[in-house]
Amino acid sequence: MGEEDERLCDARYIRALLARHGFHFSRARGQNFLTADWVPRAIVQCAGLDGTQDVFEVGPGLGALTRPLARAARRVVAAEVDVSLRPVLAETLAGLDNVDVLWADVLTLDLPALAAAHFPGGRPVVCANLPYAVTTPVLTRLLGSGLFAALTVMVQKEVAQRLCAAPGTPAYGAFSVYVGVHARPTIAFDVPPDAFLPRPRVTSSVVHMVCQKRPLRCEAVFFRLVRAAFGQRRKTLLNALSSALPLPKEELSALIASCGIAPSARGETLGIPEFESLADAYEKNGDGHNDL
Ligand code: SAM
Repeated sequence: MGEEDERLCDARYIRALLARHGFHFSRARGQNFLTADWVPRAIVQCAGLDGTQDVFEVGPGLGALTRPLARAARRVVAAEVDVSLRPVLAETLAGLDNVDVLWADVLTLDLPALAAAHFPGGRPVVCANLPYAVTTPVLTRLLGSGLFAALTVMVQKEVAQRLCAAPGTPAYGAFSVYVGVHARPTIAFDVPPDAFLPRPRVTSSVVHMVCQKRPLRCEAVFFRLVRAAFGQRRKTLLNALSSALPLPKEELSALIASCGIAPSARGETLGIPEFESLADAYEKNGDGHNDL
């Protein structure tokens, strides 16, 4: 570990650096910077970087994770939305010739164009300490792009539990299903609030996701059913789906039963294969009602 890497995780050094650049933390942008140097090391290890991978980092901040990534990867492209960090990163990443910073919002960045320009022919991995306010839309975009081989990301612990939740558990929801369709997620380790400046109120977790898209025969119908089932998760599957789908209740009940699922079951107990059977049956037997 380099001296600069350690300094970048030192709260006193960070305060002085930011004061020198007249920088003020933005809570809206989820700016909780790492102050525990074991965390970037553990993220690099969890991502399995061995000098051959290309990395896309979201939100480099002061570069506390970017520097160790740059030493462990072939190259790093990092997207940072806050241009007031430009002079800070120019200083903290000086001398690293395999890092490019894009001053861009990851929520609107053209990811296929980014991949074509920076990672031609490759399948980069994502490593990031994500801005918590936009975790779900950022992960939805990254996973949905199909461009990445794996994601190793720090998120709030309760979000990590949702990403990895199994059917029938309280944390299981529509986003668990979305993630499960695109990747195999595991929680790697927790990070306490005192590992950040400013200190967040919640514990964080690092999640590792190996991207592997499950091919769905009727993807639009599948996700429509998932949204309907979890939109009213206290209702039975029959009631939740009947208020979202243009199908008479008796037909819907028969359709659910034809998939071996009790119409009185709750949507939150269904796994991906059950939603897939329902989507297939709905697509086949919708009788012209399934104009999604
Ligand atoms: N990687 C640094 C670290 O671990 O110390 C900073 C992580 S901080 C939790 C999140 C970073 O993401 C901040 O630098 C913030 O400015 C940046 N950010 C927030 N929203 C963003 C967005 N939509 N696109 C790109 N970067 C964003």
